Amino acid sequence: MKQSVKLIAGNWKMNGSAASLAEIEAMKADAAMSPWQAEVVVFPPAPLIDRVSRAVGTAPIGVGAQDCRAEASGAFTGCVSAEILHDAGARWVILGHSERRHGLRETDAVVAAKVEGALRAGLHPIVCVGETLEQRDAGQAEAVVAAQVTASLPEALSGRDFTLAYEPVWAIGSGRTPTTEEIARMHAVIADAVAARLGEAAVARILYGGSVNPTNAPDILATPGVDGALVGGASLKAEDFLAIIRAV
Ligand code: PGA
Repeated sequence: MKQSVKLIAGNWKMNGSAASLAEIEAMKADAAMSPWQAEVVVFPPAPLIDRVSRAVGTAPIGVGAQDCRAEASGAFTGCVSAEILHDAGARWVILGHSERRHGLRETDAVVAAKVEGALRAGLHPIVCVGETLEQRDAGQAEAVVAAQVTASLPEALSGRDFTLAYEPVWAIGSGRTPTTEEIARMHAVIADAVAARLGEAAVARILYGGSVNPTNAPDILATPGVDGALVGGASLKAEDFLAIIRAV
């Protein structure tokens, strides 16, 4: 059954340092004041996962990685496997983020292999999909996103709990977002593509990501079909991230 609790995920990208642990302390203090209505996960750079996990302790904050290699181990200099991330304290992993699909040329097949690696190691995958501005302007957004869903989700996800994130490439870090009608329509397209790929019984939470901030979060999180948010820039300051968490 689909989780009804919304998920707020904070993608720190290539930001953060030991000083970021202060943000975790601020989040813990807030959670201790009154319970959050959302499930919350932060995604620090891989070398910080161990320290962030220790800082979190028993607080209701999950910790995840921003990527992993598909293989469990081997001669892959500079890469990190899902098993190593799990050992460091990660329980989640973002896969197929547009900055990897476009900047690092990750294909749907690579993303699908990484999803299998994540499942093997016991990490909950958040698979990102989204169209570019050119694709949207050409009227191809829905077809592009549905095709990404189909090709990025391996059969191994059947019957498993996982998450998708709709992140229009042009909305990431730009301050621009689709309308809530456009978001609702695309989330319905994604849900249909998941059912076509994995069967009607498959359920996944579908997050929206791209320029989510404390001001637009209430409307976006109230949009039909939106099960949470993947937040980049606004997850770096505890004050902003907490405002988004409290918008649920
Ligand atoms: P943004 O990034 O919130 O800074 O737009 C979102 C993301 O890339 O996940």
